[in-house]
Amino acid sequence: RAKAEGGNRYGFFSEEMSIEMKKRMALEIALRGALDRGEFVLHYQPRIELPSEKLMGVEALVRWNNPECGLVLPSDFISIAEETGLIDELGIWVLRQACLDIQGLSTRLGYQLCVSVNLSPKQLLSPNLVAQVQHALDQAGMQPTCLELELTEGAFIHDMQASTLAMQQLKALGVRLAVDDFGAGHAGISYLQQFPIDVVKLDRTFITPNASEPHGHGFMKALSDMTHALGLHVVAEGVEDKATLDLLCQTQCDEAQGYFIAEPLPLSMLVTYVEKNGYPSNQLHGLT
Ligand code: C2E
Ligand code: MG
Ligand code: MG
Ligand code: MG
Repeated sequence: RAKAEGGNRYGFFSEEMSIEMKKRMALEIALRGALDRGEFVLHYQPRIELPSEKLMGVEALVRWNNPECGLVLPSDFISIAEETGLIDELGIWVLRQACLDIQGLSTRLGYQLCVSVNLSPKQLLSPNLVAQVQHALDQAGMQPTCLELELTEGAFIHDMQASTLAMQQLKALGVRLAVDDFGAGHAGISYLQQFPIDVVKLDRTFITPNASEPHGHGFMKALSDMTHALGLHVVAEGVEDKATLDLLCQTQCDEAQGYFIAEPLPLSMLVTYVEKNGYPSNQLHGLT
């Protein structure tokens, strides 16, 4: 029928859609049991202080080790997990595992690392979140100051009252709160003053072009000055080259994260990375 009404445009679309839908449904079904089957893993991406290049902490990034597709990235399953409600359980698992892994490693190596955990918007407004965070800290024996929770602006600008309350309760535990992907959304900047935020993570789309643009230096300096003026700590994400890292040092950015520094690493490789780059004795020679 679509064909008769003017070419095969509609027919083509519905076929594409059904392939997409089938793929998604298959993922959704596989995702349901993935937690029980132990298929999720955390990778950890190092974050360094500038200009010292001292290793400060890591960001926990979840991956799904799917027996059929291999390692699946969060962009392919986080939204499904959110829509199906699986994100609650997954979020709790990530929090606990990240604290256990990083406190365990810190204790073993004698080098305290902080860990940053991404929260989905739904998690922030869950009434159990505060207890879950406290439990994850207790279970791992981690100081709350070593845990940072990353939220995107979309998680808190819609319901300002409930979000502010949730954020205040988290802050009362002693954990730090970061805005993730700052500059990528449409919320403007005034919210930085309205919420109890400690850290701003500049989105990589903000970072990448600056080293080559004529006003890149001024732009980065202004961003970092503004953030500091609000009493916040500024972290650049997506640092992919030396020129960008140099620019971030010149513009007083506090910390940096990105492929140029290190990719997200499985725990075993993080251990090697910390042994090579983390110890204070190595810092005299800078990071390699
Ligand atoms: P994000 O929190 O902004 O994490 C940074 C993303 O950028 C990661 O992608 C990381 O691998 C990637 N990245 C790091 N350095 C570079 C770089 O130099 N260049 C480029 N092009 N990319 C870089 P990933 O791991 O695929 O995660 C994507 C997003 O999924 C995360 O963005 C975060 O929003 C979400 N996510 C990851 N883990 C979790 C989780 O445990 N829970 C929730 N709710 N969301 C998560
Ligand atoms: Mg993040
Ligand atoms: Mg980000
Ligand atoms: Mg990002």
